[in-house]
Amino acid sequence: MQLPDIEILDEKDPHLHQKSTEVTFPLDEGTIQKIYDCLDYLEMSQDEELAKKYNLRAGMGLSFCQIGIMKRIFVVSEDNGDGTFGRYIVINPKVISHSEELIYVGEGEGCLSVNRETVGIVPRYARVKLLAYDEHGKQYEIRVREDIAIAFQHEMDHLDGILFTDKIDPKNPFKNREKMREI
Ligand code: ZN
Repeated sequence: MQLPDIEILDEKDPHLHQKSTEVTFPLDEGTIQKIYDCLDYLEMSQDEELAKKYNLRAGMGLSFCQIGIMKRIFVVSEDNGDGTFGRYIVINPKVISHSEELIYVGEGEGCLSVNRETVGIVPRYARVKLLAYDEHGKQYEIRVREDIAIAFQHEMDHLDGILFTDKIDPKNPFKNREKMREI
C-alpha cells in the first residue's frame, strides 16, 4: 500500500487557526479523492508495520484544514480490532444535542498537527448527536459516544480553527478533572 499524497501541516501553520467554510455539493472528484486519501492515511498510521515503514504517528482523525484545504470536512477512522476500520466522513456537521456528562482522555489528547509533548486535559461531552453530510451530499444523523465522540469534537474544533491545546489552561492544565469521567 502506497502512502497517500497528503501533507499534514504543523500547528505553526496559519491554516490551523482559521475557520473553514461550509461545503457546497456536489463535491468535485479531487475533493472526494482527498477524503479517501485522509482515511487511508489514518488507517496506515494505525497499522504498526506500515507506521514504522513510513514513520507515521498514529492518528484517528483528520480535518481538511490540516492538509491546507479550508472546507468543513473531517474524517475519523476507528480500528475495530479485527483488521477492519470504521470510516466516518463528516461534512458541514451541526450538533443537535449532547450529554450533560463530560469526559476526558486521561493521557491527554493528541493531534497529527501538534508535534510536541503536551500536558493537560480537555473537557468533552460523553455523547453527541449531530447532523452531517457524506461525500455524496447525502444528509445523515449520527450519535457518537466515548472515544469517537471525543474525536468528533476534536475535529469539529479544527473546523473553527481551534486546537485542543487552545482549550488547556496552562496555569491549571487539569482544571475540573474531578467533575469529569476519565476514559
Ligand atoms: Zn487534531
